[in-house]
Amino acid sequence: MAEGSRIEWTDHTFNPWTGCTNISPGCDHCYAEAWSKRSGHVRWGNNPRKRTTADYWKAPLIWNARAARFQAQHGRRQRVFCASLADVFDNQAPPEWRADLFALVRATPALDWLMLTKRPQNIAEMLPDDWGGGYANVWLGMTAEDQVRYDQRWRHLAAVPATIRFVSYEPAIGPLRLPADAEAYPDWMIIGGESGGGARPMDPAWARDAIADCRRLGVAPFFKQWGAYGNNPLVREQAMTPAEAKGVDAAGKGGGMVDGKVVREFPTEAMNSTASGAA
Ligand code: SF4
Repeated sequence: MAEGSRIEWTDHTFNPWTGCTNISPGCDHCYAEAWSKRSGHVRWGNNPRKRTTADYWKAPLIWNARAARFQAQHGRRQRVFCASLADVFDNQAPPEWRADLFALVRATPALDWLMLTKRPQNIAEMLPDDWGGGYANVWLGMTAEDQVRYDQRWRHLAAVPATIRFVSYEPAIGPLRLPADAEAYPDWMIIGGESGGGARPMDPAWARDAIADCRRLGVAPFFKQWGAYGNNPLVREQAMTPAEAKGVDAAGKGGGMVDGKVVREFPTEAMNSTASGAA
């Protein structure tokens, strides 16, 4: 919920509000729900969402002001994951909060905002009037934890104009194949197994197939983690102990190498983007 995120594919996280309602099997072990119960910050489920403080909302303006320094250090733009403890396109969040969020996005053109939702069916009606072909500094993404959820949700995201569209196949709880004959594909796919207590297993074949689909269809793959060493092919297929596997592959929870390689790519267009403002 702040600068310096530990999530591998972002630099910062920003939560305009907190609170959400579980809507899909991928929500079963929602870490934000666990956080809410631990912290008592917000009541989960069908309860009022809680807006974050005015001071907290200033953080993206500070990151934006430091953009030149970040670019000089890292050779790219900063990425902001919005939201890790809520869902931007949640119909239980007040529309005026979302309007304020998009005003903040417009005021921070040097940041790339990665908006990830499990409710892509709501996106079109919740975008600001000046969205046009998509703000240059917004990547729109949806979670699809398996094939059923991909098939249900992708058509909604595919119908919305955006600079970058992405899919988070995490937690992967079943196979997911990108159809060979689709009219449109995501620009980027994050892939990862579930971690933590009670995590559901991930078959290595799911990751290999998803990466192969990405390669064939021009989608940038980002393999984040196996979730647990029990899923890691070094353990499942090469009979290493989890401790031995960790010695070889320590990237991400449960390791993050696929057949000896770290596969962590980003959509090229955005990496090379020199866009300086919302469209
Ligand atoms: S949509 Fe996301 S934040 Fe909301 S309950 Fe599901 S996993 Fe948690």
